Amino acid sequence: MEPKLWINGEWVASQGGGVSTITNPATDAPLAAVIDASRADVDRAVQAAKTAFYDGRWSKLTPAARSMALWKLADLLEARAEELARVESDNTGKPYQMVSLGGDIPFAVDNLRFFAAAARDTHGAHAGEYMPGYTSIYRREPVGVCGQITPWNYPLMMAAWKIGPALAAGCTVVLKPAPTTPLTTLMLADLTAEAGIPAGVVNIITGGNETGQALVEHPDVRLVSLTGSTNTGKKVMRTAADTLKRVHLELGGKAPFIVFDDADVELVAQKATLAATLNTGQDCTAATRVYVAHHRLDSVKEALVESMRGVKIGLPFDEGVEMGPLISHAQRERVQGFVARAKAAGATILTGGGIPAGFEQGCWFEPTVIAGAAQDSEIIQSEVFGPVLTVSSFKDDAEAIHLGNDVLYGLAASVFTRDVGRAMKLAAALEFGTVWINDHLPLTSETPHGGFKQSGFGKDLSAEAVGDYQITKHVMVAQS
Ligand code: NAD
Repeated sequence: MEPKLWINGEWVASQGGGVSTITNPATDAPLAAVIDASRADVDRAVQAAKTAFYDGRWSKLTPAARSMALWKLADLLEARAEELARVESDNTGKPYQMVSLGGDIPFAVDNLRFFAAAARDTHGAHAGEYMPGYTSIYRREPVGVCGQITPWNYPLMMAAWKIGPALAAGCTVVLKPAPTTPLTTLMLADLTAEAGIPAGVVNIITGGNETGQALVEHPDVRLVSLTGSTNTGKKVMRTAADTLKRVHLELGGKAPFIVFDDADVELVAQKATLAATLNTGQDCTAATRVYVAHHRLDSVKEALVESMRGVKIGLPFDEGVEMGPLISHAQRERVQGFVARAKAAGATILTGGGIPAGFEQGCWFEPTVIAGAAQDSEIIQSEVFGPVLTVSSFKDDAEAIHLGNDVLYGLAASVFTRDVGRAMKLAAALEFGTVWINDHLPLTSETPHGGFKQSGFGKDLSAEAVGDYQITKHVMVAQS
C-alpha cells in the first residue's frame, strides 16, 4: 500500500516528500514504507490544524464533549490493544508482554482516560475584584496549534502523552512520530476519526529531523512539545525563538540510584536491574548511576552483576523474555562506543559490554555493569540510552547528594534507605523532576513527569500537562 499522511481527517499522498523503509530491530526485516513529509506537507497539516482550531470545531466544544471523544479514543485503543501491541513489538523489538498486558498500551489507554477526565476540571479559572469597580476574570484558553514531536522508545505511549493533554485543553495538533517508529502512531489516526474527533484536530505526519525542523519553524504553530534528546531540545528551543513560540521539552536523563547502608541488597539489585534493562535501557528515567554507601559497595556490586546476568534476552514474542534489542544499529554502535571509551579511560567492565551470544542478527547488547569510572568521565556524565549501569561509592549523605546532582540532567532519581528522615532530606536535595524512595520507574497518569536542569521543562502526564497547553487571559470588566 502506498504510504500516506493523515491530514485534515483523511489519508493523503505527500507533496514532494521521499519514502523511508521501517525495519524490525530484532531481525532487520523490513516492515513498511513511510513518507518523509516535505515542507509543503508540514504546511498543509498546520493549515488543517489552524482551520480546525479557529473555526472552533474542537476548541469551542464543551469540555464534556471533548472528554467523551477522548474517552472513546481510549476505548478504541483498548479494543485494538493486541494488534497495536504486536505492531509496536515488531517496530521496536520490545518484548510483547511489556507492550501488551500491563505494559505500554494499557498505560496509554489509562493516560487517555485520565486526560478525558482532566478536560472537565475547572481548576485555575476564577474571578474576583482587585480594583474598586472592576471584576477580573481569568480564562484558561487553549494555546492553539501545537507541533508535537515524539521519540522512538515508547512510540504509542508518547503519542498518548502528547495528544491527551493538548486535546483536553482544546488545542489542535500536528504530531510527528520518530522516524524509526511511526507505525502505531499512524494506526492511531483512523481511531481518532472513529472516536468522533473532528477532521483537522489531529494530524499525523511522518518523517525525520528535517520534517520536525519544518514543524518547529512554522509560524502558525503556537507551541512545540518535544520528547527527545537534550541536543534536539536545544535546537528546537533556538528555532522556536525566531517565532517566539512556547516550548515544552521532555529531554534526556541520567538517573542516579543511591543506595544507603541500611538498604536491602536483594531489593536493590532487583530494582536496579529492572530499571536499567526495561526497554533495553532506552528510557529517559532509566537507572544509570548506582552510588553505594562505601562499605556496602562490594556486596551491591556482586548482587548487581548476578541479577544483570540473569536478565532473559530474546525475541519479542518468545516466552518470558525480559529484554529485547536496541532500536537500531546506529544506537548499538553508540552504546558500544560509550562502553569502549569507559574501558579505555580505566573503568572495569564487571559484566556484559558486548553482543550476546546467538544474537548476531539485529541490534542486541548485553546488560552491562561498569565499576571504577571517574565522576567526571563520559560514562557517568552522558546519557548512554542502553542497558548499562555504573557503580560507584560515597562516604556520607553530603557526598551522595553531590554525586547524584553532579550531571547536567535532572529528570529522575531514586534513594534506597529505611531511614525516613534521610529519605526526605535526599528527596528535597536532589534536583530531579521525580525522586523515588525504595523504588525506581513507576509512573501514574495522575503524577507529573518532567525534568529539571537540562532534562527540560513542562510536564507530561497529570493535570499540570493540561495546564501547559493552556494560556491565561485576563478579562477586566468595569462594573458601571
Ligand atoms: P531525538 O532527539 O533524536 O529525536 C526525537 C524526535 O525529535 C524525533 O521525532 C526526531 O525526528 C525529532 N527531531 C530531531 N531533530 C529535530 C529538529 N532539529 N527539529 C525538530 N525535531 C527534531 O531523540 P530519540 O533518539 O528519538 O529519543 C531518545 C531521547 O529521548 C533520549 O535522549 C531520551 O532521554 C529522550 N526521552 C525523554 C523523555 C522524557 O520524558 N524526558 C522520554 C522519552 C525519551
